[in-house]
Amino acid sequence: MKIAVIGTGAAGILTALFAARAGRQITLFEHNNSIGRKLLVTGSGRCNMSNDAVSPGAYHSADPEWMTAFLDTFGVPELKAAFEALGIPLIKTDDGWYYPTSQSAQSVVSILEERLTEAGVLFRLATEVEWFSQKEGLFTLNLNWNEQKSSESYDRLVVAAGGRAYPTLGSRGKLFPALERLGHTVEEKLPALGPIFVELGEFKQLKGQRFDAICSLSADGERLASTFGNLIVTDKGFNGPGVMNLSHLVGLNPGKNLELQVNFLGPYWEGMAEQFADPGKASRSIRALLLQTFSPKAVDFFLSQAIIQAESHLDALDETQLKNLLRVATDNRFKITGAGDFSSSQVSVGGVPVGEVDARTCQSLLVPGLYLVGETIDVAGPCGGYNLHYAFGSGILAGKDLAGNN
Ligand SMILES: Cc1cc2nc3c(=O)[nH]c(=O)nc-3n(C[C@H](O)[C@H](O)[C@H](O)COP(=O)(O)OP(=O)(O)OC[C@H]3O[C@@H](n4cnc5c(N)ncnc54)[C@H](O)[C@@H]3O)c2cc1C
Repeated sequence: MKIAVIGTGAAGILTALFAARAGRQITLFEHNNSIGRKLLVTGSGRCNMSNDAVSPGAYHSADPEWMTAFLDTFGVPELKAAFEALGIPLIKTDDGWYYPTSQSAQSVVSILEERLTEAGVLFRLATEVEWFSQKEGLFTLNLNWNEQKSSESYDRLVVAAGGRAYPTLGSRGKLFPALERLGHTVEEKLPALGPIFVELGEFKQLKGQRFDAICSLSADGERLASTFGNLIVTDKGFNGPGVMNLSHLVGLNPGKNLELQVNFLGPYWEGMAEQFADPGKASRSIRALLLQTFSPKAVDFFLSQAIIQAESHLDALDETQLKNLLRVATDNRFKITGAGDFSSSQVSVGGVPVGEVDARTCQSLLVPGLYLVGETIDVAGPCGGYNLHYAFGSGILAGKDLAGNN
């Protein structure tokens, strides 16, 4: 049986590996000159592969039950065991984020490449699959290698071509029309995990400053979601995990009045309130107190917004001044003007709905012999290893099913 896998991202590599190790004849197509280009940049080069908090509710996908069935089959213990068996042990940070022990995405890609070679996978790099179709149980791929066009037929086809995020690294969404022709639905692809643009007003002065903030996004006055995480002020708005987990909601709510509420004090308010109430600290300056949490630039900005003299002592502040300070640090509402496009977003939502794919094998429920893995399906998680967990897992489930041992 001849099997073609399109794409050497997290999902395609693992599919190819798990099927080839069971003796299947795998041809792995990739239009880049090397494998795993996007994997190399994940986690800022450290490859954040999973998270203790992986759960169905954390993912954006049309059907949480599908995600439950998927994660019941491939949870964190399964991911750890699979990678350890491949010679890629994992470590966990205090907050439950998993990385390879090497903390190097390059090491992960190099080891996986060696395992693929050992397993006898045939690499077809610098080869674009321009189209595929199916007739009488065979899949025909139209190929372009160095402008030389050819076609080849396979018994099984795995589409692991990604979504549309970071097109410079290879995933451009060009094969979705071929999936539609085979009868699959393709939901509009929208960027996710990217920056959010807002009318910053005076907050532009904080450009470059980082905060551990709580952010909430509302559409026409209705709060849609809140997140906590690190954010950085940019010249057009905010970037970083604190807002990236909300950015897909901008594209999903066109024409609505969107607002971002930012609490720059995040979880630190309680500690600060205790110090305000502590008589032993009354003679300290408000500036020194705020410097425990913020940079000097941020402290001076918040104090000037609250119209408080920097050298004021805590016991000299009246209730109105403290309320003003609390408001400028914790309750800022910004009009959202847009979100990052595919070039600046880490993943994309949309693609083939999960309901058209078997959650335990990733085989198409509409086209026998066709498998859809990774970002080609409409599953997107927040920052923190959720997306690689899902991409690796979908590849492993498809690979095992192709191997016939699932
Ligand atoms: C900067 C950045 C950092 C990230 N960091 C993390 C992180 O730390 N943790 C995490 O969980 N997630 C992270 N992600 C998200 C994660 O990388 C993706 O969710 C995951 O890589 C998706 O894997 P995939 O195999 O589905 O698709 P991709 O990795 O996009 O792979 C698809 C492959 O298919 C190839 N291809 C596409 N079309 C064709 C064609 N027609 N012919 C031949 N080849 C084709 C592409 O070149 C590509 O190599 C990050 C993403 C980015 C952009």
